[in-house]
Amino acid sequence: MIKQVPLVMIPGPTPVAEPIRQGLAGPTYAHGYGGFVNIYKETLAGIREIFQAEKAIVVGGAGTLAMEMGLINVVKPGEDLLVVSHGVFGDRFVPMAKSFGIKVDVLSCPAGERVPLTAIEAKLAAKKYAAITLTHVDTSSGVMAQPREVAELARKYGALFILDGVCASAGIPEPMRDWGIDVIVTTCQKAFGTPPGLAMVAIGPKALARREELDAVPGYYSDWKNWLPIMDNPALYFSTPPVNLIQALHAAVKMVLDEGLAARYARHERIGRAVRAAIAALGLEHLTAPEAYAPTLSVVKYPEGVDDAAFRAKMEEYDVIVAGGVGPLKGKVFRIGHMGNICINEIVMTIYALERTLAALGFPVNPGAGVGAAWKEWHKG
Ligand code: PMP
Repeated sequence: MIKQVPLVMIPGPTPVAEPIRQGLAGPTYAHGYGGFVNIYKETLAGIREIFQAEKAIVVGGAGTLAMEMGLINVVKPGEDLLVVSHGVFGDRFVPMAKSFGIKVDVLSCPAGERVPLTAIEAKLAAKKYAAITLTHVDTSSGVMAQPREVAELARKYGALFILDGVCASAGIPEPMRDWGIDVIVTTCQKAFGTPPGLAMVAIGPKALARREELDAVPGYYSDWKNWLPIMDNPALYFSTPPVNLIQALHAAVKMVLDEGLAARYARHERIGRAVRAAIAALGLEHLTAPEAYAPTLSVVKYPEGVDDAAFRAKMEEYDVIVAGGVGPLKGKVFRIGHMGNICINEIVMTIYALERTLAALGFPVNPGAGVGAAWKEWHKG
């Protein structure tokens, strides 16, 4: 049998659609060349449209750089930051902020649960914070937060609101203007479906004003002021952009806008429902509380006696790669990414591999139960 390239169903990077891969394989233009300048401009305009952003910065980097860029341009060393964390990626803001001398309070909860809005409000009411961070979907626990409600609280108590959209952007709505989000930090290898390598920041008017107030910030490559003139006119130079990746993102943004935001978000909802129907039909349990399920990934507990390494090795043998747990959940859960430019075909392949894997490891499986449940749910529309 011909060995397939395994289907990558981890929560980022996600499968790269052919038009996006072609963007990556395009010419390596001079970054000041007019043709490339237009590609960069169109890409940034698309990003601003997707997020309703006043300004967008897209540079070589990763999600973690975007987090840092989002933070240090609006919060000064010595100021107070409230971090709302639903797992490993929410927690990441803590050492990051501390490394810049920012004072941090953290609100967290047991893995898989969601921090109650009342707890967030109590914190904001008790102390003046310069900003609050929230991870839209924490990729470690699968918890989807409530950015719209948290934005309202942040506004009420005069804190800037920074949203980590990494595991949500382009798969779940994040309308900055409508919801009152001040900064979205994100990247390209998840629901945008682009190969990794870009840091993306969407900025609203209050955050821009705050950057103006701050004068110098503890960063150079991360300083918005070094990038904003380039984003307005990419013919200018600050640091060489990854021209091929920008072409790939250009194709990805076009795919997002051609599909339409509402249709794209609805497709993610529908895929999420199909995966959850399969998980339920196979008798597996989620780590995540039902009210916090995310359309972009599922975090599933290993049944008694199923070993993490053996499970993922079998899945790979059946040509599908899923992710293990991270942080304290390592060995206890597996994670299926279901975001970006995928559809029911990839889900059915994944669930089929899951059924075969569980059966091979001695877990009782009714063949086709998961696959059938997934496609039945999908066909409800
Ligand atoms: N935030 C979230 C929610 C993430 O899932 C990740 C990466 N998985 C990051 C931030 C960090 O992104 P990167 O790995 O691109 O630095």
